Amino acid sequence: MIQEQELIAKITAQVIAQMQQGQAAAVPEHYGVFDSIDGAVAAARKAYQSLRALPLEKREQLVGAMRKTAYDHAEIMAEMAVTESGMGRYSDKVIKNRTAALKTPGTEDLKTRAWSGDCGLTLVEMGPYGVIGAITPTTNPTETLICNGIGMIAAGNAVFFSPHPTAKNTSIWTIQLLNKALVEAGGPPNLLTTVYNPSIAVANAMMKHPDVNMLVATGGPGVVKAVLSSGKKAIGAGAGNPPAVVDETADLEKAAKDIVAGCSFDNNLPCIAEKEVIAVGSIADRLMDYMVRNGAYKITPQQTAELVNLLLTVKEEKMAEGCTAKTKRTYGINKDYVGKSAQCILSKIGVTVKDDIRVILCEAEADHPFVLEELMMPVLPVVQVKDVDAAIELAVRVEHGNRHTAVMHSKNVDHLTRMARAIDTTIFVKNAPSYAGIGVGGEGYCTFTIAGPTGEGLTSPRSFTRARRCVLVDGFSIV
Ligand code: NAD
Repeated sequence: MIQEQELIAKITAQVIAQMQQGQAAAVPEHYGVFDSIDGAVAAARKAYQSLRALPLEKREQLVGAMRKTAYDHAEIMAEMAVTESGMGRYSDKVIKNRTAALKTPGTEDLKTRAWSGDCGLTLVEMGPYGVIGAITPTTNPTETLICNGIGMIAAGNAVFFSPHPTAKNTSIWTIQLLNKALVEAGGPPNLLTTVYNPSIAVANAMMKHPDVNMLVATGGPGVVKAVLSSGKKAIGAGAGNPPAVVDETADLEKAAKDIVAGCSFDNNLPCIAEKEVIAVGSIADRLMDYMVRNGAYKITPQQTAELVNLLLTVKEEKMAEGCTAKTKRTYGINKDYVGKSAQCILSKIGVTVKDDIRVILCEAEADHPFVLEELMMPVLPVVQVKDVDAAIELAVRVEHGNRHTAVMHSKNVDHLTRMARAIDTTIFVKNAPSYAGIGVGGEGYCTFTIAGPTGEGLTSPRSFTRARRCVLVDGFSIV
């Protein structure tokens, strides 16, 4: 065990040193990484054709090889992602990588449907698309590559990845690592491909490439809109702003612990992480007390105002003639603080806290920008409302119709049902941290591509397939 840890520390140091010198930390040979998008897509097409010729059993072995190498290198990938992107928390990224490796479904997810009767036998089988163009975010770089890589190959496809440029080296290294494992397990080379210099221009060229059959975008609203406007079959996994509602029947101490844990997971980077709390007034103070006892640091209204100036950018837009208000204020996020720790953010307003502080807690009104914007920082506003109905109504409003993720802490089944129906999110977590919704401490498989806008939900291999019907008349039926 100690030897293994020493080895990991040594490789991590080497990889990070290479990255700091501006080099892509290289696995020997190109292993799926090309100079041009044309070269990469052509190689992926060839790999797809070779994969099609292999039996399903072999495909599952290849998935197993990806799982093992991703699991074994979870620490290095986490270290690289934090170092390169400057975002997130190493220990949580290790958990995310390992969960993606172990709990992303494989070929067993591809279920054939059959009808048999007087006319014979009809099958609907799930077949691959071909080459998938997949866009990955900087917030979850390696876990999305692992999860998409396993799911898309299990479905029989090859992939061209367009990773976020701010996690370029980490993503390239991960693609090489997974490809190496695939080749060593007897798979074709270049099942997963990318280019040495990913950029938005590359993502756009990929969307138009005639040999890319399907697109999958995991990211913010801009990229989801771009793939949905491409004219190709596309899956869009977009932004969230998950509210956590707490009513008067909740186990408050547990709710507080769960919310702090979910909100601070990877410094709030996950799209599913609690972004605001809406609490019934009668229990709000006790809930906040428990949060403070369990890793939250409560700031004053003055400090909240200082954080607004630090963490947000403000734009005043002129309103059209005839509007009552002359200007409209819109907010953006100061990207320098996305995925930074509570200590780091607090230090910028002169507050020093220990390592065990994971969340910055503040009280806010319903229309506060910290409530309305997807910060992706461990800053958690708490809004007090008069009762559970007001809480549900506000939660629906601040979720902005993303239909992504919501959390509720309540012991009342009617309240839970009411909120689930009203908010209608892809993931609804009851009495647990948000990450239970992607299989971390909750039942069910894992994904890091949650497709609310296009409706696939928590994507899995079957999301990356085409349904084909095969009909045989007057045969193969013994009914
Ligand atoms: P981002 O939208 O800035 O970037 C995502 C990817 O899209 C990157 O690879 C980027 O290069 C590319 N991109 C961005 N704009 C583009 C455009 N106009 N045309 C082509 N490509 C474009 O997002 P990010 O900061 O990397 O990730 C955070 C966002 O992603 C958050 O909004 C978060 O909620 C969302 N997200 C959603 C899911 C999900 O499963 N629904 C998972 C992770 C992240």
